[in-house]
Amino acid sequence: METKNLVVPGDFLGTSEEFIVGDGVYDERGKIYAAVVGEVKIEDKRISVVPRVGTPPLPRAGDIVIGRVEDVKENVVVVSIACIQGCENRSVATSERGIIHISNIKNSYVTNLQQEFAHEDIVRAKVIDAKALRLSTEQRNLGVIKAICGRCKSSLVRRGNVLFCETCRKVEMRKIADDYGKVVI
Ligand code: ZN
Repeated sequence: METKNLVVPGDFLGTSEEFIVGDGVYDERGKIYAAVVGEVKIEDKRISVVPRVGTPPLPRAGDIVIGRVEDVKENVVVVSIACIQGCENRSVATSERGIIHISNIKNSYVTNLQQEFAHEDIVRAKVIDAKALRLSTEQRNLGVIKAICGRCKSSLVRRGNVLFCETCRKVEMRKIADDYGKVVI
């Protein structure tokens, strides 16, 4: 096995007389070219280009994701998903927004979403429908993990079951994850 330098799509790698076409390459009239950005790998005359960057992960049902609240509507919270827990160093392969429906916030009945989430909250949620990107925060470890004061934008600290602003003394309600404030992001 042999590894060469980085190639980009269209780079000429050799001829079909020298090599057998592998993955990440294409053959055009007997000439083999790179089809992806990556490193050339030759194994028993079989030539491939191994992609340099892995495909970013897509959220799957059951995944725990971290995101930021974009909007709080009457019945849903709109979340931009930043990463999948466990793959924090790789962004997700979607720019789609996740949705937390009012019935998936917590085990008890929710009447006012404004008392559970606010714009710019950082949340941890579970994917319950990967196709529609529906999320849930029903478990104790799910919900808001970081929030700022709606009045002065200071970070809110947890006081029992509510959040408190040490700057302007405002008290805010949230669906708090049980490790609120202890998470380093
Ligand atoms: Zn404040």
